Amino acid sequence: MLLSTARLNRIVRLYPAARVAVVQCGVRNLAISQAAAPFGLFYAPDPSSQIACTIGGNVAANSGGVHRLKYGLTLHNVLGLRVAMADGTLLEVGGEALDGPGLDLLALIVGSEGTLGIVTEVTVRLLPRPTVAQVILASFPDVASDANAVSAVIAAGLILRLCVACGGTVTGEHGVGVEKLDAMCQQFGAAELDAFAAIRRAFDPQALLNPGKAIPTLHRCAEFGRMHVHGGQLAFPHLPRL
Ligand SMILES: Cc1cc2nc3c(=O)[nH]c(=O)nc-3n(C[C@H](O)[C@H](O)[C@H](O)COP(=O)(O)OP(=O)(O)OC[C@H]3O[C@@H](n4cnc5c(N)ncnc54)[C@H](O)[C@@H]3O)c2cc1C
Repeated sequence: MLLSTARLNRIVRLYPAARVAVVQCGVRNLAISQAAAPFGLFYAPDPSSQIACTIGGNVAANSGGVHRLKYGLTLHNVLGLRVAMADGTLLEVGGEALDGPGLDLLALIVGSEGTLGIVTEVTVRLLPRPTVAQVILASFPDVASDANAVSAVIAAGLILRLCVACGGTVTGEHGVGVEKLDAMCQQFGAAELDAFAAIRRAFDPQALLNPGKAIPTLHRCAEFGRMHVHGGQLAFPHLPRL
């Protein structure tokens, strides 16, 4: 079954005084800042896809762009969610105030890539537009050396592993999706992967939501580990070998 949120594209409410907007999940990221601009406000998370991506997708992937260095990711700029659960019930998480009653499930649902529920409405925090913006540039003598520098970083194959080794996360930019599924094995241990699977089962026992979105199994992590045995050192020694 394919579910389209394209018509959930309405900005429901915008309260300039409270610096809050309530938007449906199909509203584009940039459209929020455009609606807030006449009030001197903006929505901080700015993934490069912001002209086209939706706030629902941003919540699913916990997206962020260059603004994240100062303002954080989607999680840090979302106050509340309305979520349709796998069994059809509606869940309200958080709200328009800074601290709401009940369990704080925002951090659980933001970044869950549609596996725990379908986000239908999002309450976002708006911020005053900065009066000054400064750009920091790394300059290269020509386009080719610029492109070569990027290619060299990628070719080194270190990026994600280095991020984890330095205390970062494989989802520092973009979500997990399919491409970074194996990278989850680098960051998370067996107990954490088990916990992810248990949370997913609790929210969606029949695995109806986003069925192609997998949490890596120990089997997969062990296989991935075997592919990266270097200098006699076994990767992921804590995982059972098959
Ligand atoms: C050109 C380009 C540049 C990008 N730049 C960045 C960047 O700078 N930083 C960054 O973090 N990411 C970036 N991304 C990836 C970014 O995370 C996505 O573009 C965006 O956040 C996803 O929103 P979307 O509306 O496109 O969602 P989709 O791609 O349509 O969906 C993404 C995932 O979210 C799920 N989903 C979508 N809507 C909902 C919903 N309402 N409820 C539950 N689940 C939902 C989908 O099932 C899917 O699994 C970029 C992508 C592109 C194509």
